[in-house]
Amino acid sequence: MTPINSSTLFETTACLLCGSQAADLVYETRDRLMGLDGEFALVKCRNCGLIYLNPRPTRASIGRYYPPGYEPFVEAVPDRLPWWQRWPLQYGLQKRCQPIVTRKPGGRALDVGCATGLFLAELRRRGEWEVAGVEPSPEAADYARKTFGLAVHEGDLASARFPAAHFDVITMWDVLEHLHDPLADLREVRRVIKPDGLFLFRVPVWDSLDARGFGPYWAGLDSPRHMVVLARRTVRPLLAAAGFRPLRMWTLSGSHASFALSLRLWLEERLPQRRLRAAILSGFYHPLTRLLAAPYFWITDRLGLGSQLTVLAEPLGVEL
Ligand SMILES: [Zn+2]
Repeated sequence: MTPINSSTLFETTACLLCGSQAADLVYETRDRLMGLDGEFALVKCRNCGLIYLNPRPTRASIGRYYPPGYEPFVEAVPDRLPWWQRWPLQYGLQKRCQPIVTRKPGGRALDVGCATGLFLAELRRRGEWEVAGVEPSPEAADYARKTFGLAVHEGDLASARFPAAHFDVITMWDVLEHLHDPLADLREVRRVIKPDGLFLFRVPVWDSLDARGFGPYWAGLDSPRHMVVLARRTVRPLLAAAGFRPLRMWTLSGSHASFALSLRLWLEERLPQRRLRAAILSGFYHPLTRLLAAPYFWITDRLGLGSQLTVLAEPLGVEL
């Protein structure tokens, strides 16, 4: 990797929600997942409480932090996984479709950050859906087109230039936290969604047991790829500023995988023995361990302390 010239690769920013410059340091962070260079900081806005990365990589330089081996892309390809990891993935996809198919029989659906297209392919199977995706990674977009024949726009949402009030359903799985200007993208979602449309997204949240327990090792921080770290109390004003109202906020899926990733990041710094680490992690993914861990995730979800918050929202000013 070429050395970093910090003056062109990093930038400072005001609060991504309220624009205030006043903020307190939460953690000094670095890239624990991919091990790439650079030092970053998570700060908390004194005005609205939003936690965001500052300083952070610029839009021009962020690509260097998504190398080809970046895990969410690799893990999202089911034919590379053993059956005992494939089955939970399939189950997770079905659960993500559930809030949509129980409310709408079909229509136009858009998945922003559709990665390899697994979710859209599953949704299309479950009703009269005309599906489209937006995905910045050329490799993932190509996989989605070739494997599932999906219509995928390569780039960000704004560059797709969809017509206004076009989609019945818009989804964003683990995407919002990666955006340099999440409010601008949410406003674009608001523009292209129909007045009676449904907006469904998932984000890691700060006010969770995982975030408290793992601290700076919590996978939900994923510096410097996560520009914002939301919490239950900051999701609502962010949505309102973009013209949405949450209908439901709950933990739907992803708890086990997220916990396992935090555990890996923690072990990598605390346990030097590579083989032992690998054994612990492979044991954690075993179906029996999943079964034993299930009550923990069930209880944290019921207490509203799960780390992967799913939000179902509707546009404000809906005409019924
Ligand atoms: Zn703020």
